[in-house]
Amino acid sequence: MLIEFEKDYMNKYWKIQRAQWCNYFENENYNLSQIDAEIYDTVKLFNKEVQPIDRKSKIASLLMQKDLVDKEPLVSEIRNRIDNLDNYSDNISEDIKADRYQYKLALSYKMKDDVKKLMNTRNALSKQMGFDSYPELVLITDEIDKDNLVHSLNGFLESNLPKAIEIIKKYNIKWETWFSDLSRIGVTKNQYNPIELVNQLLKTFGFDEIKGKIQISFMEKGYAGCASELSPNDIRIVVEPIKSLNNLRTLFHEMGHAILYSLNKEEGIYKILPPSHDEAMAVVIEYIAPMLLILNKTDREKIFEIMTLEYTRCAISSLYEFDLWQNPEIAEELYIKHYSKLGIEINNPSMWASDTFRSIDPVYVHNYVIGAILAEKIFTYLQSENSCNYKEWDAWLSDNIYKDGRKKSFKEKIKGLGDFI
Ligand SMILES: [Zn+2]
Repeated sequence: MLIEFEKDYMNKYWKIQRAQWCNYFENENYNLSQIDAEIYDTVKLFNKEVQPIDRKSKIASLLMQKDLVDKEPLVSEIRNRIDNLDNYSDNISEDIKADRYQYKLALSYKMKDDVKKLMNTRNALSKQMGFDSYPELVLITDEIDKDNLVHSLNGFLESNLPKAIEIIKKYNIKWETWFSDLSRIGVTKNQYNPIELVNQLLKTFGFDEIKGKIQISFMEKGYAGCASELSPNDIRIVVEPIKSLNNLRTLFHEMGHAILYSLNKEEGIYKILPPSHDEAMAVVIEYIAPMLLILNKTDREKIFEIMTLEYTRCAISSLYEFDLWQNPEIAEELYIKHYSKLGIEINNPSMWASDTFRSIDPVYVHNYVIGAILAEKIFTYLQSENSCNYKEWDAWLSDNIYKDGRKKSFKEKIKGLGDFI
């Protein structure tokens, strides 16, 4: 029964990976709700038949529990509606659309009811299945301990918030223009050839087998970057053309995903990594790459300033989110309370509803912070064990983290470095 489930599930898994990519980047118009419905049917069919008796059946069962909520027809319908901004952009003037912040705010008012309905539906379904709430379902199916995680998020904030506040003052960063301000921290003028840097990164680590396997394109798409495995070994990255150190950082991050996908030697459901594993390892490479590559010292420091800002914001965003699921009726109040910690003025708290981490990828943003914490630990560990012998770094990462996919839990894989998830 497990074998039949795995075969059926993987077919549909690859189908949706490809459809999503093609809709975003190749102007296709696949009906994602339809594919979600097919996955939901498979899960419904096998859910009672597959009992968690060993590692593989346990993973199957975790995947099914998550999909019973996230692929449920109403959830899928609202989620996919929110994922297409054309559904909300009627009657918004071109003037407002030209201003990124004002546009997001206008969308926020229009999509708020849908976002709330989506949260309610996810929460109600999770409760029906015996979980306390939707966030609990997400963390349990990702094999993360919530107490450990919240402790780590608070610890990260405690040590990074003072630094972030300083950097915000130094560059006069505003909440309304956060992302363009990050790009302003380090504008580049063709001094970095991205493809050469990628090759240098792979060569340094000895990830030679990957070279040529990853397809990288540069496109202005309104968001920083994306990496995906569309079918086994068809791994693609899209990033914005490199105009800033922030773009360069994104390229390293997406390479982190791509390396992880290429070096995962598993097939079937062990190939599907939980979000914590996937996102955290992207941040790890984003952190290590500037240390190893030949960038000038000032640029390297600026990249770390940008990372401090971004991951402090993510830590605040995750703690806000956990609060929000408990008290959705005071969403605006909580938004001001949490983000004001950055020491900047937070206006228009209605903005919360247009953040994709509240609807498209809910209970996900903490994974970046796990990555930021892990990156420092892995870097310190590998440097003390192997100094500058980077081929040894590759061997350690491959053996301990990459090659066996989800055969072991991510928590288990990194437990030698601390019990923080
Ligand atoms: Zn990522």
